[in-house]
Amino acid sequence: MNKLKDFPYSKILVLGLAKSGTAAARLLLENHKQVIVNDKNASETDEMVAQLRRMGANVFTGSHPLELLDGVDLIIKNPGIHYENPILARALEINIPIVTEVELVNYLTEAKIIGITGSNGKTTTTTLITKMLAQSDLPTKVAGNIGIVASETAQTMGTGENLVLELSSFQLEGTEKFRPHISVLLNIFSAHLDYHKTFENYIAAKSKIFCNQTTEDYVIYNADDPIVSEAVKQSKAKKVPFSTKQQLQSGAWTDENYIYFKGEKIAERKNIVLVGSHNLENILASISAAKLSGATNEAIGEVLATFAGVRHRLEYVAKIHDRFFYNDSKATNILATSKALSAFEQPTILLAGGLDRGNGFEELAPYLNHVKAMVLFGETANKIHEVAKHAGITEVSFANDVEDAVPKAYAMSAPGDVILLSPACASWDQYKTFEQRGDMFVQAVHTLE
Ligand code: ADP
Repeated sequence: MNKLKDFPYSKILVLGLAKSGTAAARLLLENHKQVIVNDKNASETDEMVAQLRRMGANVFTGSHPLELLDGVDLIIKNPGIHYENPILARALEINIPIVTEVELVNYLTEAKIIGITGSNGKTTTTTLITKMLAQSDLPTKVAGNIGIVASETAQTMGTGENLVLELSSFQLEGTEKFRPHISVLLNIFSAHLDYHKTFENYIAAKSKIFCNQTTEDYVIYNADDPIVSEAVKQSKAKKVPFSTKQQLQSGAWTDENYIYFKGEKIAERKNIVLVGSHNLENILASISAAKLSGATNEAIGEVLATFAGVRHRLEYVAKIHDRFFYNDSKATNILATSKALSAFEQPTILLAGGLDRGNGFEELAPYLNHVKAMVLFGETANKIHEVAKHAGITEVSFANDVEDAVPKAYAMSAPGDVILLSPACASWDQYKTFEQRGDMFVQAVHTLE
């Protein structure tokens, strides 16, 4: 295990005992730091509390007493805890630096860090890059917002290896020295304003991915996104743009048939399994990062021809009796479902419905031209039916749930059709999570084989 190198802090308060907080506390204790752990929701009887105490941490549960700040020279907070929390507000007043666990990464490893952020597409791009590097036999690990603690993985990695990190705006806001060798900025939409308050703050948080980079480093960015293009002007790193709209000498772009990087033909588009123009952007960003890291065109081509998408995100499930099934259970709002619908030109049967949040579904109307039938379920079934009627879709069937919807959709389909679960609603009226809903869909699809 690597040790923390040149880490200038000695008494650290870890705020929030989730996976990343627990890992950070353990890591600091192993590096002989004085560690205080504080979690309002943890219970004295939690095994983790006992374990960290046995390792030498002072653990406080149930509240956030301000006295915990005495003598502390760094706070590592869970990305979800807001700076308005009284203990953090006080820390800001007395100039204690506040970071997230990602900040530890550069103190732990000499591995080459590839950091990916953006409002959408992070997990897909992170996964694609990791696969392209692994397929090229380059030693690579993946971590970060994808669900694996970044610092814990960084601890195990050395020079010559690649660490691919998915990074959220919350994680990035809490960084001071974090410096990836390659940063990827996919897009910036207005999002998470409940946390960041203003769009400017959100852009500033995302921009932290490249602000410590030097002329030795690279920033890969979406040249079609005006906010992203403006933001990267501040970066000292070498600029590597990508575009689905224009030819670029210095980065990745595409014509109808091929994808190019710096003038070189890299991959043929007809072999790509992932669908959707948004995924084409993710692919261009991934190819740029992979090529800069030494991936081969053969490996890139192989990944593009086999990667069917991240689970539940417009994931290609199967072709059964000439029908193409896609699981987009993660689409819990209208925007996501409209993206999914835009990905296809073939006649499509849409499976939709779920938790009623009180909104209407009229905004789906422009995307329904190729939808020949719908199977609706959940609390919003009738509301979506109204939109279907207005769009002139007469073939509508109602189902009890997703499992019941699959055979109904199949019965309405013809060879060549797409059968798409993209519910435009959260799942909680009928399922514990969108993952469970997607799994049920996939199971039901396979029973048709
Ligand atoms: P994230 O990790 O940022 O949430 P994912 O890769 O998990 O992103 O994709 C989540 C959803 O975001 C997808 O189902 C799709 O609707 C949308 N999406 C993915 N990539 C992009 C992109 N490049 N631009 C816009 N929307 C995208």
